[in-house]
Amino acid sequence: MKKTVKDYIRTIADFPHEGIMFRDVTTLFADARGFRMAIDQLLHPYAGEEIDKVVGLEARGFILGGAIAHQLSVGFVPIRKKGKLPGAVISQAYKLEYGEAVMEVHDDALMAGEKVLIVDDLLATGGTCEAGIKLCERLGAEVIGCAFVIDLPDLGGRKLLEKLGMNVHVLCE
Ligand code: AMP
Repeated sequence: MKKTVKDYIRTIADFPHEGIMFRDVTTLFADARGFRMAIDQLLHPYAGEEIDKVVGLEARGFILGGAIAHQLSVGFVPIRKKGKLPGAVISQAYKLEYGEAVMEVHDDALMAGEKVLIVDDLLATGGTCEAGIKLCERLGAEVIGCAFVIDLPDLGGRKLLEKLGMNVHVLCE
């Protein structure tokens, strides 16, 4: 039977903390057929849509986003954890289970009116992506979609993003 994207993803129990089932996409990325399938499927619903930039969320969103940007012949913009980007940034805090985290983007990375696609490997609570959306919107860009390889539906991220009016595209749950 033909393998699906999900078949290439490996689960590692108790990483990085006890009780977490870590969905490891390195096995998907390492397989030529799996990686191409994932990139093609992530792009599928956006065929014919105008996309000016692809935005990737640290860190696995960089690998997916770079390949997607190349495929579309558009630029790639990284959204990184606090303190990693060298130039002037804007910052957006968001809640974690315990405490808070901050994501940043270069303040000149997107222009007002640009249409962007946000990409990451996995959607859990949606907090990381929501921070990414806010950063894009604060720079005046329009987020036309958020695409993920995996959704963990019990954690409610998809509902949260859809409540914000976002188009959400996932390859598997
Ligand atoms: P969230 O902000 O809760 O939607 O978490 C999404 C971010 O955390 C993504 O960048 C994921 O790569 C990472 N993440 C959260 N939970 C997992 C998991 N079970 N396996 C792998 N990555 C995860």
